[in-house]
Amino acid sequence: MKQLVAILGATGSIGQSTLRILEQHPEIYQLYAVSGYQHIAELIDICLQFSPKIVALPQAKQQEFLQLAQQKKLTPVPELVFDEAGLIEIASATEVNVVMAAIVGAAGLQPTLAAIRAGKRVLLANKEALVMSGDIMLAEAKQHHALLLPVDSEHNAIFQCLPEQYFDYRQADKTPQLGVAQILLTASGGPFLNFTQEQLDCVTPVQACKHPNWSMGRKISVDSATLMNKGLELIEACHLFSISEHFVTVVIHPQSIIHSMVQYIDGSTLAQMGNPDMCTPIAHALAWPKRISTHVQALNLFDIQQLDFYPPDIERFPALTLARQAMRTGGTAPAILNAANEVAVAAFLTDQISFMDITRIVADTLDKTTIALAHDLQGILQADQIARQTAKQWITQYGVQ
Ligand code: NAD
Ligand code: MG
Repeated sequence: MKQLVAILGATGSIGQSTLRILEQHPEIYQLYAVSGYQHIAELIDICLQFSPKIVALPQAKQQEFLQLAQQKKLTPVPELVFDEAGLIEIASATEVNVVMAAIVGAAGLQPTLAAIRAGKRVLLANKEALVMSGDIMLAEAKQHHALLLPVDSEHNAIFQCLPEQYFDYRQADKTPQLGVAQILLTASGGPFLNFTQEQLDCVTPVQACKHPNWSMGRKISVDSATLMNKGLELIEACHLFSISEHFVTVVIHPQSIIHSMVQYIDGSTLAQMGNPDMCTPIAHALAWPKRISTHVQALNLFDIQQLDFYPPDIERFPALTLARQAMRTGGTAPAILNAANEVAVAAFLTDQISFMDITRIVADTLDKTTIALAHDLQGILQADQIARQTAKQWITQYGVQ
């Protein structure tokens, strides 16, 4: 029996990489449903190639979709479902076995949770959803027997380096188990790794979106440049691996060959390595515990020759400290951090604020927003909304309109 796959965010960078893997393994996987948000022509191209049964898109894009479908002779036209309800429908459809959660930002939270509640194999790329909901998402996964597999390359690497039984031994006190001493979370350092403070003050969105090693969506590219991506990943790791932030060390590794490491109490350090291509972690998460082939070239260590490692500069990149503090504070703090960051990154990408303003806004929003316990999703969504308003006020006051 083929595995039926739904891709939330099929038109994005992770969505496209996922399609590339599905294309290589038509005997195992069949695309059942996809979602898109803005790039309707690309959504049609996906439909022409993979013939999914259902497509989720914004209601406002329905006409554009139908017109393009006619122009490009798409037959049969797939069933269309709309907005968040549509995303939830495809994420939890009975037919679907595997859900790739690859929407960017908080917009992916409810659909990802819907896939988890429906007990699917959920491939998690949408780190913001986990950063916001934390323990709630993991508790739902446990309750509904969903298999939550990390796609983020670092977390996928850590997953590969942890003992197989690790997940049966998660401790409430968040200490590492089974001889694990700590996690080494690697970071490329982004495009501005060696920029001075003065240079950082005037970098542009175009520069920020040019990552040296990875090709990614615009939001995560900016996050990589501020190191907020690593901050979000720190929080993601704490939740996924039930580990306190004391046991997660960030290591700058500019070549992005080692995707992260696990250190053990006997002096061993296990690393997962590979060329920087998201198709590897996606294929891993799709097939685990099996392995499937990808087009990604095996490493040639003789070509690489050298791997470098540095501690991060938390003065020039305050995002890491903000994220660590938010994780330590707990409750709604990570959701507030994430919401302020999403608003700030969008404002940076539209030239309303400077690069360094992004972390200023996140710090200011965390300062001004009341942090509560994160008992339920409603409290988290409320904190998200308040933080967005606070961040927007900062932009209205100090940004360029
Ligand atoms: P992207 O911007 O290329 O794609 C985002 C997708 O989400 C698109 O399909 C878009 O249509 C959809 N989308 C955007 N806003 C939406 C909304 N409001 N409602 C519904 N759909 C919406 O982003 P990406 O680089 O593919 O990243 C996707 C997620 O994966 C992010 O959470 C990112 O942090 C994570 N991730 C990406 C990479 C990478 O290499 N690109 C690596 C690790 C993790
Ligand atoms: Mg990553």
